[in-house]
Amino acid sequence: MDRNQLESRAAMSQENGQHQPDPPRRFRDFLVLTLGAVAVLTLLYLTGAIGLVEWITGAIVMSTGSLAFFVGSAPNRRKGPTPTVLQPADPAPVVEAETAIEPFLLALPLPALLVTPEGQVTTANTHARNLFRIDVASRPFPIAMLRQPDLLAAADRVSRDGADERIEFTQHSESEVWMAHIRPGLEVGSAIMVFEDLTAVRRAERARADFLANASHELRTPLTAIGGFIETMRGPAKDDKEAWDGFLDIMAQQTERMKRLVADLLSLSRIEFSEHRAPKTQVEMVDLARKTSLALTPIAEDAGIKLFFNGPKSSVSAIADSDEIAQVIQNLASNAIKYARKGGEVQILIGESATMAEAAAACSRQSPEAKRAVLLQPYASTEVPAVWVRVTDDGEGISEQHLPRLGERFYRVDESRGGKIEGTGLGLAIVKHIMARHRGGFAVESVEEVGTAFGIWMPRLRHDPSAETV
Ligand code: ADP
Repeated sequence: MDRNQLESRAAMSQENGQHQPDPPRRFRDFLVLTLGAVAVLTLLYLTGAIGLVEWITGAIVMSTGSLAFFVGSAPNRRKGPTPTVLQPADPAPVVEAETAIEPFLLALPLPALLVTPEGQVTTANTHARNLFRIDVASRPFPIAMLRQPDLLAAADRVSRDGADERIEFTQHSESEVWMAHIRPGLEVGSAIMVFEDLTAVRRAERARADFLANASHELRTPLTAIGGFIETMRGPAKDDKEAWDGFLDIMAQQTERMKRLVADLLSLSRIEFSEHRAPKTQVEMVDLARKTSLALTPIAEDAGIKLFFNGPKSSVSAIADSDEIAQVIQNLASNAIKYARKGGEVQILIGESATMAEAAAACSRQSPEAKRAVLLQPYASTEVPAVWVRVTDDGEGISEQHLPRLGERFYRVDESRGGKIEGTGLGLAIVKHIMARHRGGFAVESVEEVGTAFGIWMPRLRHDPSAETV
């Protein structure tokens, strides 16, 4: 609202006598009060209740009291600050409210605008300017410049009705706009608009919905297979006991698959639940990797794969969750065993580096001709000392287009290879979440027909100098 309008509205309200004191009415009240008191005194005098002296004294006291009240209650005699209760058409406080709000609006960490009822944006903070890509030096500018008719209409409603509103709109991303009148109760006034980006919320909602759909799909497949075999064994193959062995084998396999899937889903949800709580215990990483590797030896032997472990003699400690780190190594190594060539070999290597950046190179940038992808950027600073683990195999490798998607839940490359190898598609997603909890990184490099290497790295503890001199 501009100054002229405010002034004219103030003048109008004065004419209507809404909030300026009315002098003739005050004078009339004064006269009625004084004459009333004198009349009462006269009545008392006439009935003999009081004498002439009392009548005169009473009349003087009453009229002096009324006069003192009349003069003392005059509006221009009022001392102290202006009353805080403002009337709707009081122009100055509205302008003051806008001026007072401006610093808050500019300091808000969300895009925010102040819009007049005439649709002029008087204040737009930097976030709002960036959101709408506006570069207007002069103020105010018309809200129509934002090219959002819904916003325009809503701002108009809020300015006029004084009621809060929330609307959703899409500019470059999905946002929600919260709008409020700067002085609720005023008929017409400026409106504040604060924009909240909903992209992350919407993405999380979609991811959750996709996850549920994928998980139920993955469970439905083995269940349908088992159901189908039961039907066959009850119906057409009822008396074919020889065929039953084959059916029971497949049913046992499908049951195993469901058990693995449920176990992986449970670990994933447990890890997600604790992802924001940093681990607290000190873990000796080389020892842990050696033991995990040893536990996998029988599985490798069964698959006809040679499993090698290599790590430093000295201890490398980190603040970690030992079960989770063991699960990372186990997931990567069991994948390597699964995907290595027949009679091939898998290596589990562990080492330490002076910085996270060096560790990333040591575990995931070793082969010049490899295609690679970083599946998780570490949250920790690149300069802190780090420990890394690299798991390599000599399998078919993974083609370049699949690399960035590894670590997504249920993403399986071998589905395109004809689904020859069993898996849930959750192993690498689990690794990714565990490494996120450890503020570490996760990367892959692969050469088709030569092999694949997965690397993880995370902050380690500095060596105790006194221990090194011993
Ligand atoms: P899965 O249970 O299917 O192995 P993962 O999440 O562990 O699930 O792996 C996802 C996909 O990544 C696998 O289906 C496979 O296609 C591919 N993959 C993982 N590790 C390797 C590897 N060492 N060599 C080749 N492909 C791999």
